[in-house]
Amino acid sequence: MPEARDYYELLGVSRDASQEEIKKAYRRLARENHPDANPDDPEAEARFKEISEAYRVLRDPQTRQQYDQFGRAGSAAGPGGFDPNDFGFGGFGDFGDIFDTFFGGGRRRSSGPVRGPDMEMRMTVDFEEAAFGVEREMEIEREENCPTCSGSGAKPGTSPRTCTQCGGSGQVRTTRNTPLGQFMSTGPCPECNGRGQIIDELCPECRGRTRVVRRRKIKVKVPAGVESGMRLRMAGEGGPGERGGPPGDLYVRVDVRGHRQFERRGNDVHSKLRITMFEAALGNKRNVETLDGEEEIKIPAGTQHGSKITVKEKGIPFLRGYGRGNHVVNIEVEIAKDLTDDHKRLLLELAESRGETIDPPEEGFFERVKRAFGRGAGDS
Ligand SMILES: [Zn+2]
Ligand SMILES: [Zn+2]
Repeated sequence: MPEARDYYELLGVSRDASQEEIKKAYRRLARENHPDANPDDPEAEARFKEISEAYRVLRDPQTRQQYDQFGRAGSAAGPGGFDPNDFGFGGFGDFGDIFDTFFGGGRRRSSGPVRGPDMEMRMTVDFEEAAFGVEREMEIEREENCPTCSGSGAKPGTSPRTCTQCGGSGQVRTTRNTPLGQFMSTGPCPECNGRGQIIDELCPECRGRTRVVRRRKIKVKVPAGVESGMRLRMAGEGGPGERGGPPGDLYVRVDVRGHRQFERRGNDVHSKLRITMFEAALGNKRNVETLDGEEEIKIPAGTQHGSKITVKEKGIPFLRGYGRGNHVVNIEVEIAKDLTDDHKRLLLELAESRGETIDPPEEGFFERVKRAFGRGAGDS
């Protein structure tokens, strides 16, 4: 067991340091000495525990005061010992952000192959293209492993050599002697900038970057039935992997343009058709536009406003599987507003023949209609 050291010394702060200074010093040291960041250093854990214990006592003004007066015996750690693994001391909140900010990024510096990043692009297609599918060529700009050096960064015919200073790990441990004690920290190797390898002759194309930016044309196959917001995955078309890792994927997000007369609801295509009151009453045959062109529909006699006429399987194909949705014609009955007096007389007669009594609010209606009646009678 190493000799117990002064808590202020451990954190490298003076005895009158502010709480903020103590917190800062602790965070820095905890980051440098955390066992997970120093897998090859067997002493890291012990150092980390000591630092944590020191912080636990000094972060609380009350236990700090006791420590100042009575030393370790007086601090809240007390007899029976304090287990530095017990972070339940309100310490977890403080640890939380260290774990997030540090270990999130820190772990990624491992030496194994790393899959390349995924990329996302957007693509807009027409309503019909979404319905029936389309193949499009898209231009993307992405990083790729340099083809000249195959991603090594070294001039062809040469190869990178392992850094002797760090032995290829990219990390070096430095020991600093200060009046407050010895501090060890781990950081990127200055010789190779943390890469673990040194390139003596750079590749002429990528200048040692190992990557080049390329514009590529790629074919995107949009399947029939695709909906706005769907993402198509193009395996292996994303960013390049590291250290032999596979490339990431490219996701193409599809936006579907609206249509001037069609509206998609599920796999059905809806459109509107305005018909006159006479067509509604008597029935008619009309042509309507569908995805497959003009289609004749039969409007039955007595069709009501708001009713729907379905044309089977003229909708959008199902993305997975067979078959299509329907085309649905939404009927809007228009009541004639431009009736002449002759028309009105005919309608009035019609209504009376059906036993309906009608008293229009219009001033002088009957006189005018009677005149129209007289003329109509005279003409025949
Ligand atoms: Zn190169
Ligand atoms: Zn190195």
